[in-house]
Amino acid sequence: MKKYDFVIVGSGSGGSTAAILAAQRKASVALIERNQIGGVNLHWGCIPVKSLVASAKMLLHARHGEDYGVAIPHVSASLATWVNRQRLVIAKLAEELDRLLHRNGVEVLRGTASFESPNVLKIRHNGHEEMIEGKKIILATGSHAAPFPNIEAAAHPLTGTSNDFVHLTTLPPRLLIIGGGYIGCELCGVYSTLGAKVTIVEAGTHLLPEIEPEAGQYLQGKFEQTGVRVLLNSRVEKITYDASSSRAVAHLEGGTLLQEEKILISIGRHPNIDTLGLDRVSIAHGRAIDVNEHLQTNLRHVYAIGDVNGRSLLSHSAAAQAEVAVNHALGDTSSMDFKHIPFCVLTNPEITSVGISESTALEMGLRIRVGRCPFRNVGRALAMGELDGFVKLVAEEDTGRLLGGLIIGSHASELIAQVTLALKLDATVQQLARSICARPTLSEAIQEAARRIVSGPLPSV
Ligand SMILES: Cc1cc2nc3c(=O)[nH]c(=O)nc-3n(C[C@H](O)[C@H](O)[C@H](O)COP(=O)(O)OP(=O)(O)OC[C@H]3O[C@@H](n4cnc5c(N)ncnc54)[C@H](O)[C@@H]3O)c2cc1C
Repeated sequence: MKKYDFVIVGSGSGGSTAAILAAQRKASVALIERNQIGGVNLHWGCIPVKSLVASAKMLLHARHGEDYGVAIPHVSASLATWVNRQRLVIAKLAEELDRLLHRNGVEVLRGTASFESPNVLKIRHNGHEEMIEGKKIILATGSHAAPFPNIEAAAHPLTGTSNDFVHLTTLPPRLLIIGGGYIGCELCGVYSTLGAKVTIVEAGTHLLPEIEPEAGQYLQGKFEQTGVRVLLNSRVEKITYDASSSRAVAHLEGGTLLQEEKILISIGRHPNIDTLGLDRVSIAHGRAIDVNEHLQTNLRHVYAIGDVNGRSLLSHSAAAQAEVAVNHALGDTSSMDFKHIPFCVLTNPEITSVGISESTALEMGLRIRVGRCPFRNVGRALAMGELDGFVKLVAEEDTGRLLGGLIIGSHASELIAQVTLALKLDATVQQLARSICARPTLSEAIQEAARRIVSGPLPSV
């Protein structure tokens, strides 16, 4: 039986990062993958969706070219060509990942891994079985889309999860999205920009339940301006098939029926734990694997990182956890800071947040001050013709210590890095207000929001 310093299960954002980091520290590493190397983020998640979002953004720019003095007479676009571009982006990144794994000497093993004993994993692949042993084991098996429980068999082909939708090449004229989280909202932006008539049904009181209500309410307003229908506090009970129209029918609580060409089911994600044989070695878990602050399971040589521990289901969080787990396994005292993980939604406009939101701070009874700067007050935003949105910063009233930020607007997913760094460095709004931003830039809105907590507004020209 082959023995390794590290055996890592799953090659997504968490597993592939852990494998390369451990190999760079001169450990012998086996990386086991049952599907595509690169996992969800590369093949069905962030990268495919962001590639479609980029195409949608380009289409919007082309349509509005005349506003900038650039008339483009015949603008046309098709989902099939967007998906072709997306495939090229994925292929390039997959090639780069293969190269990195190879160059660092990571041994990639194909198959499905499960525990045989606390240090031994069985790998099954095409009817063959192999056992390998790891001094340290990192579980990074990710998550899958939660299935919708009540779909009539005939309606099944008209429904799908993000896995099916991200590679869809034909635009459905009418589309229902069940679930107003970030995945549903980003795909809504893509399809509605191309002309699909989209309805989103969300069980909660606002879109984007992952972040504070103000963000979802803002997005809802923007969606409705572009013809998207948003139904809040609404639940789909079952999906049936209507043979006369060849459409799927969503039955909402209260009796409303929605007839749709396609239905995207985006109601959350479940950690992939079923095939791991966790109970055989008594690894504690509920729906996700239990971990401590070092990301160790109750078997201290076994770590669980990324979506599978259910703590924060984001690619950059999985990669950060990989670093903590590898460092800790190699002897230092690393622990994971889940407090300052930025959350980005690439809709139009982009929506991002980090740290403690205004609504959470108020719920917690904290005494806070809030500074807000709309982008319409910022010279660069006006020059760019990108007036949507604002920066909002939340700080402790007495000390000015920054607690969190919400940014809605163009390039918000880039701007949030500045707020994240300030939080990590435990900065105050006084320090943010005094740091000098290049002019004219969108980051001036962050400085200005900080300044509005400290003193009063200044012009951006
Ligand atoms: C549509 C969509 C959009 C997203 N957009 C973003 C975004 O913009 N930003 C962001 O940060 N995150 C985004 N995410 C979330 C992000 O993709 C995940 O958080 C990230 O992929 C988690 O990485 P991971 O390493 O935990 O698992 P995964 O990427 O899920 O990888 C797990 C791997 O383990 C393999 N595996 C599972 N079980 C076994 C087994 N028993 N044996 C062998 N292999 C196994 C799987 O095949 C898979 O390849 C998005 C997700 C989706 C679905």
